Amino acid sequence: MKKINRSDAILSALLVVMLIATGYFGYQTMTLKNKLARYTIDSTNALTQKDQKLAQLQTENEKLSNTLKNVAGDLEELEDNYRKEKDKNDEFDDKIREISKTVGVLNKLSKTDEELLQKYSKVYFLNENYIPSDITQIEDQYVLPGKDAAFFHGDALPFLENMIEDAARDDIDLSVISAYRSFDQQEALKGQYTTVYGSGANTFSADQGYSEHQLGTTVDLTDAATAGTYNSFADTKAYAWLLKNAYKHGFTLSYPEKNGYYIFEPWHWRFVGEDLAEYLYDNDLNFYDLEQREIDEYLISIFD
Ligand SMILES: [Zn+2]
Repeated sequence: MKKINRSDAILSALLVVMLIATGYFGYQTMTLKNKLARYTIDSTNALTQKDQKLAQLQTENEKLSNTLKNVAGDLEELEDNYRKEKDKNDEFDDKIREISKTVGVLNKLSKTDEELLQKYSKVYFLNENYIPSDITQIEDQYVLPGKDAAFFHGDALPFLENMIEDAARDDIDLSVISAYRSFDQQEALKGQYTTVYGSGANTFSADQGYSEHQLGTTVDLTDAATAGTYNSFADTKAYAWLLKNAYKHGFTLSYPEKNGYYIFEPWHWRFVGEDLAEYLYDNDLNFYDLEQREIDEYLISIFD
């Protein structure tokens, strides 16, 4: 039997140890390599998944953007349609308003007596059967003491009373001598004048003067001192006040000094409405200077 010497034994032991170590390290290396490979695969997979997710998200984002764009487009269209509909409605409303305004104007005009702003002359004469739509008694305090009860057009009466009170505030004394006169009253009066003055009566109580009183919107005014229809009324403070202020209450002097159609009547004032009276005052015109069609434009607002 061969004797194993000591150095062989050590060498063998070393060999065994080396083999074991080599095996162990080999194993460890393999494991690491495997781990690394697996990790690489995992990472690659994860990255690929992330890319896919990202691509998916981008696609969804695009889809959403498109949807949003479509919705915005639809909204704009809706807004446009709404605006168009609104415009149509507004236009319709405007038309309705215009029509009702026109109807209102026509209605008001149809109810306004056109005789109230008529120019009277030898050619155009108020009908003897004409009676104003509303005749109201003037309160006694506004009528010259000793005179009969006086009557005036109900719609114009507040303007007359306001004017007399406005004058009183300026220490001007104004009273009514005569206001509404029926055709019969006028005939009787004309008869009296004719008896006293003969055919000359026509120059101061001719047809047009009569007609204006028959309207119910014309009044003869005086002050206590003058107390009648005399030309001397033109020299009073009351007349001066009327010339300056009567228009504010819708009154105008029908037959001013040196007018071309009638004798001067400082006492004879006709209600024509504030708008027309102001227009006449501002332009220094007389009622009978205007064309009838020009006057007619003021009919609608006569009692405003
Ligand atoms: Zn008169």
